Amino acid sequence: MVHTLGCRLNQSESQMLRDRLASAGYLVVPFGQPADLGIINTCTVTREADSKCRKSIRQFIAQNPEAYTAVIGCYSQMGTAEIAGIPGVDLIVGNQDKFAVLEHIDQGKNERPVILRERISRADFTLSHVGDIPFDKRANLKVQDGCDFMCSFCIIPFARGQARSREWENTLDEARTAVARGIKELVLTGVNVGTYNNSGHGIVDLVDALNDIPGLLHVRISSIEPTTVPIDLLDRMADPKHNLLPFLHLPLQSGSDPVLALMRRKYSMNEYKAFVEEAIRRVPGLCLGTDIMVGFTGESEADFEETCKQFLELPFAYTHVFPFSEREGTLVMKREDGWVPMEERSRRCTRLRRLSSMKRHDFMEAHSGKEALVLLEDPRDGGFPGYTANYIRVRVGNPGHDIRNQLVRVRLGKIRADWMEAEILEFIN
Ligand code: SF4
Repeated sequence: MVHTLGCRLNQSESQMLRDRLASAGYLVVPFGQPADLGIINTCTVTREADSKCRKSIRQFIAQNPEAYTAVIGCYSQMGTAEIAGIPGVDLIVGNQDKFAVLEHIDQGKNERPVILRERISRADFTLSHVGDIPFDKRANLKVQDGCDFMCSFCIIPFARGQARSREWENTLDEARTAVARGIKELVLTGVNVGTYNNSGHGIVDLVDALNDIPGLLHVRISSIEPTTVPIDLLDRMADPKHNLLPFLHLPLQSGSDPVLALMRRKYSMNEYKAFVEEAIRRVPGLCLGTDIMVGFTGESEADFEETCKQFLELPFAYTHVFPFSEREGTLVMKREDGWVPMEERSRRCTRLRRLSSMKRHDFMEAHSGKEALVLLEDPRDGGFPGYTANYIRVRVGNPGHDIRNQLVRVRLGKIRADWMEAEILEFIN
């Protein structure tokens, strides 16, 4: 059992561990089923994340008291002592040696946990992967780790270390292996993907090399920091012959300049807006999404109103909304005033989430009746769901045979809550 908490990068690393375990002959079961081995891949982005990790660890041990229990990842890196205090944990591995967990799992249970927590290296890295397990879903491809940006609310540069990239050939090798396994869409993941740089190759070189892999139909970038997107990347998104999809998740965090400065973000609102206008001008049908954090220390009611106004005015299709959560070790914790009460943070979250639903609806409405390409996923609720190239969730009816992992051209129809009905016009691949 490999259980994941947190971000897409953790999901990608967990999948790699599952593949390696399966390749070594293990039967990998979901969280909640009896298991002899549990690997819990943790997150430490907020205090609540820490607490969820502790709950999952305790739950696994209570259900599987004889199982070898390993805890890996960001919370292992930052909260080693707290995890070591949970009875039944056998191994704690920080982020540097995350994959070394597999070298320890055949040992018996320990009276006290073994702790492997090294300083995180600055060097670029390789990851070994296995190629003999069929996989017919969209898959994550880890290309980068760590971040040097030091936003004042963020613990990630401490938990995952400084920015470094996956070695070029090793990255492409996994992409080719993924395609040989039946994967048609890859989502590029990392902490700060736009800073990818290995042996002279940047993010644009990487998407171009992925475009040259026969059978790889779609490449999506999960999220990318606003100041790191080269204009050439937009041109690749705009090119219908390129497999890079027209999707840009560009974290804004706040629409107010004073708050952006307090957050130590690397752009002003004017710079962000100018970039977005350029992106919309260059990429037809672009889906622009973002992350916004509300209730940050020092965010006044007027700052929040400004964020709502900017969110409504800019051509966003949606935002993910997060309430600010205090995190020991981050720069903002040095402040003594300006804390926004929790109830106010949650009020701001609710308001902005409502605005996001409205904008998502508007984005879908603007596409009703249009054609789109969709890679279909596993059947659900009587149909086959999928995402359009520009990230609208759709579902086509079940034709009575298996059409998962097929690329189809559809016509978009009615809006249903946060997804759209779609009718298949053509099977492409
Ligand atoms: S860019 Fe800022 S928010 Fe994102 S990981 Fe780096 S420090 Fe954290």
